[in-house]
Amino acid sequence: MYIDYHTHHDRCGHASGTLREVVEKAIEKGFDHIGLSDHSPLFMDKRDHANPNMTMAKSQFPVYVEEMLLLREEYKNKIDVRIGVESDYIEGLEDRYISIYEKYPLDYIIGSVHYFDGFHVYDPRRWHRGEICVDEEYRKYLKLVQKAAKSGMFDILGHIDAIKGLNHKAQSDLTPLLEETAQVIAESGVVVELNTSGLRKCGEIFPSSAMLKLLHDREVAFTFGSDAHSPEELGYGWKESMDVLLSLGVRELATFKARKREMVPIPELTGIPTNK
Ligand SMILES: [Zn+2]
Ligand SMILES: [Zn+2]
Repeated sequence: MYIDYHTHHDRCGHASGTLREVVEKAIEKGFDHIGLSDHSPLFMDKRDHANPNMTMAKSQFPVYVEEMLLLREEYKNKIDVRIGVESDYIEGLEDRYISIYEKYPLDYIIGSVHYFDGFHVYDPRRWHRGEICVDEEYRKYLKLVQKAAKSGMFDILGHIDAIKGLNHKAQSDLTPLLEETAQVIAESGVVVELNTSGLRKCGEIFPSSAMLKLLHDREVAFTFGSDAHSPEELGYGWKESMDVLLSLGVRELATFKARKREMVPIPELTGIPTNK
């Protein structure tokens, strides 16, 4: 099975392609499942469309879900469209987000830590605030990832070590923190994605091979997400990701329908979708 569970489209204001173009490109590339998972609106903001370059308006969310449902039906003989969202994880607003998502027939929710200390995780200004302790930023990020796991809100955790995305390297050995994080994730039962936007941002999949091993040792299940921000990026880094998983002894990927997990086999390494 060829799957991609982390994709964006033009509603978020910083990706290209319509939902239909994403689905059609996924068919062209030979995927069995295409997961649609655009950024959640900024539900925590009072305004309807607080940041048009970051995500859709709050009022667009029901429209987005409706469009996914129509596409799922229209293309059901060609591809399995799975209906999702990449949600922000905002500490303290768990109940608010849960009560919103409950109203929609989502197949899955990716939970990602994007914001902390007032900056997006990929905002370079984080690292130019005077004396910054890189290890402390890693610690804060991974502690929030742990809280996202424990919240029980999510089916998949998104880009769990995105804090490395701008190539600021930890100074000390963070193995104990990584082990603690892997343990919390294992106990929570949430799935971890191999997110290949890491390859595009810093030359390494999110999460690192070391972290993948710690997770696999604790029997955490994995899925695949290109974090495509254009139809062309669908499936980006698939082969590299599967090679990492197969070398660890992983043989299955997690898929989701109506918030229920189903494991599917990693395909033979032939006929892999192209990394166009
Ligand atoms: Zn994005
Ligand atoms: Zn993200």
